[in-house]
Amino acid sequence: KTTNDTAAHGGDVRLTGITKKYGSFTAVHPLDLTVPQGSFFALLGASGCGKTTTLRMIAGLEEPTAGTVHLGDQDVTALPPYKRPVNTVFQSYALFPHLDIFENVAFGLRRRGIKSVKKQVEEMLELVQLGEQARKKPHQLSGGQQQRVAVARALINHPKVLLLDEPLGALDLKLRRQMQLELKRIQTEVGITFVHVTHDQEEAMTMADTVAVMNAGRVEQLGSPTDLYENPRTTFVANFLGTSNLIEAEVDSTSGSEIVLKAGGGKLVLPEARNSAPARTGGKVLVGVRPEKISLTHADDAGEIPEGRNRITGRIADSSFIGVSTQYVIDSPVCPEFEVYVQNIDRDSRLTPGAEVVLHWNPEHTFGLDAAQD
Ligand code: ATP
Repeated sequence: KTTNDTAAHGGDVRLTGITKKYGSFTAVHPLDLTVPQGSFFALLGASGCGKTTTLRMIAGLEEPTAGTVHLGDQDVTALPPYKRPVNTVFQSYALFPHLDIFENVAFGLRRRGIKSVKKQVEEMLELVQLGEQARKKPHQLSGGQQQRVAVARALINHPKVLLLDEPLGALDLKLRRQMQLELKRIQTEVGITFVHVTHDQEEAMTMADTVAVMNAGRVEQLGSPTDLYENPRTTFVANFLGTSNLIEAEVDSTSGSEIVLKAGGGKLVLPEARNSAPARTGGKVLVGVRPEKISLTHADDAGEIPEGRNRITGRIADSSFIGVSTQYVIDSPVCPEFEVYVQNIDRDSRLTPGAEVVLHWNPEHTFGLDAAQD
């Protein structure tokens, strides 16, 4: 490897067999994971799934029971936190209350004995759009502004990797959404690897290039937000990221590229490429489709539905107007509580509770999951 190569990949985070046990309890099962340099990576999962423990092992704040942590080519497993080229932003901003914003950000430079800090601190404050606030104290800023100071302070020493542990958890929803875009902009601008821990699927999907969905100490699936949403491979991932509308179906036949399934009285087509279940004739598969991919047609007009679409019948149980779209809950013999979102601009006024309907969608939007797992 040339020096250039090493520099270019100095921000790769590579976990190999990383494991954490507390007594007989395994918080993180042996985990192999590579976060490429310059990416915005999210560890997503419910409380207790091991995401914070994983982050803390990268930071050096938690000692792994087994396995190694590499940053670029450097094995940092045995290094204390302050010797690793990483920095962490926590939910509690932990700013120094008696120092002004400028001095909070300058702190890391001054501690390293650097005297002329003005230019660097000013640049950093510009980056987080707090140039005007330099002489204020932390308590004079809003929560979102304080969190941006914490990010500036963590970036001032140019870490190769920035770790963020639920950094937006203390903010209200509106501010959270603003800060998600703000953090994404900052990451794109500085080009540093960000590893972000969150339990909020929308947050992970908005910000990250790659998301690792964790469940009970394991990564269940890793991929881009759209890939995870469109091609979940487990029921956990399907249900954790949005609504999946799962139908239990039986394999009727398989051809090269398609699986034909029986559900209730009807047939559904599932593209082979979107199936992650064993597909033997007579076997069971869980078939899913996302709520916004489905069209609703009143049963009286069923004859107008084009050929080749997957269809099931049902009755509207409930509807709620949610601005641009209406959310319907449909009772169907193959899936009670099917959720469907229809854009209001396309809405048929006969679609009210009690109406008999046909739900139909392009087979391409169908995914298949293993019915026998967990
Ligand atoms: P949260 O979002 O609630 O922080 P998390 O997914 O980040 O959840 P971790 O904090 O990584 O989860 O914890 C994973 C598991 O390890 C949890 O079941 C937790 O109770 C357990 N755990 C964490 N720290 C310790 C500890 N010091 N001693 C014993 N068990 C621990």
